[in-house]
Amino acid sequence: MTPAQTFDCAVIGGGVFGLATALELARRKRKTVLLDRLGSGHPVTSSTGLSRSIRIAYDQPFYVKLAQDALRAWRDLEAATGRGILHLTGQIDLGPAAKLQAIHDTVRAQGGAIRAADATELRRLMPELKPLAGEIGLYHADGGTVLAEQGMLALAAAAAQAGAVLHQRERVTAIELGAARPVVVAGPRRISAERVVIAAGPWSTALLEPIGIDLPLAPSVAQVTFLDAPDQVGRPGIAEWETSAAGGVYGHPVPGVGYKIAFDAGSTGWQPDVTDWSFDPDEECRILNWLKQRLPGMPARARLSQRHPWTMTPDADFIVDNRGPVTLACGCAGHAFKFGPALGRLVADVMDGALHPPELRLDRPALQRQASATAPIVR
Ligand SMILES: Cc1cc2nc3c(=O)[nH]c(=O)nc-3n(C[C@H](O)[C@H](O)[C@H](O)COP(=O)(O)OP(=O)(O)OC[C@H]3O[C@@H](n4cnc5c(N)ncnc54)[C@H](O)[C@@H]3O)c2cc1C
Repeated sequence: MTPAQTFDCAVIGGGVFGLATALELARRKRKTVLLDRLGSGHPVTSSTGLSRSIRIAYDQPFYVKLAQDALRAWRDLEAATGRGILHLTGQIDLGPAAKLQAIHDTVRAQGGAIRAADATELRRLMPELKPLAGEIGLYHADGGTVLAEQGMLALAAAAAQAGAVLHQRERVTAIELGAARPVVVAGPRRISAERVVIAAGPWSTALLEPIGIDLPLAPSVAQVTFLDAPDQVGRPGIAEWETSAAGGVYGHPVPGVGYKIAFDAGSTGWQPDVTDWSFDPDEECRILNWLKQRLPGMPARARLSQRHPWTMTPDADFIVDNRGPVTLACGCAGHAFKFGPALGRLVADVMDGALHPPELRLDRPALQRQASATAPIVR
């Protein structure tokens, strides 16, 4: 048997959760190794693609604060790596009055700036938008776009610079518990570590079940459409919340491309070994039809549609918690990317026992099997 290499921490998965965690652990002087099965940012992983929405507009104080931390941490990462990651053009939120009021009050309570915008103001902020009669939305400046590909490259570079060892395209096949220290097995490689982080995105269940952790995680595949709209790259991001049974719609500008728009809902079941997700032309048609109703000034020309997986939890909150020597950092719930480097600090704090957020705990009621029906997405 190959002798085990010894580390303080082994991180399984190099998506945004895993890379950010490896970066933070290395910064805390833990001898850290990360293994990623497909390679960070591979097209069938959750953290792939050019861009993600970023906003502090949440109706849960926990996520507002995490987003505020993330904005600072992304800026620090930009300075450290010389990469442009944030494209902040603000965000407009639309939808049911009660939802908007809750967002408004929560953001303000956390010291964030957000304000109501009537139809005239909405049209001024985004001339392409067609407000409904008497519509009142919200606007905040701390929103827009994270250039996801740049963010991933920056996280990987900073993690390596801080001393983390990154093994790309190496698949962990087993986690052996029972001895004094866990052993992570990846082909012939055996890694003995004090702590193991499972950040394997939609594949997390395959690693969790053999070590006796059964969670109602629901991976599915969601589609996004990039509009050929280069003149719109200065426009704010947009979120229309819970407007139909299909969920809401969100969008943001993408420098060099135009504007990205998508339904806030997974559309197809996920299968673990699919190597390519081709897009659904019917869904592309539906999103272009939404655009014609709601953003009629935006060119309804699709440049590219893509599908990627995300992993829902029943309450749309992440899972970050400890079970023995294992720390879980999974259940991205379709909205984790924006938090980028702040996720790493969160996972490291939970690992070290400095934090134990009730929203993210393993023993919260929503994760008990009898409550596993997926809730409407209201993130
Ligand atoms: C279409 C879409 C739109 C989204 N829009 C937004 C948005 O606008 N704003 C936002 O904040 N978030 C958004 N998200 C969510 C965000 O992208 C995810 O929350 C985030 O990328 C999840 O990252 P992860 O690290 O958990 O998973 P992943 O990126 O999937 O990373 C998991 C990694 O684990 C590796 N792995 C799996 N099994 C093993 C194994 N056995 N051994 C080693 N490695 C393994 C995989 O190769 C993979 O790289 C969106 C997601 C999708 C799909």
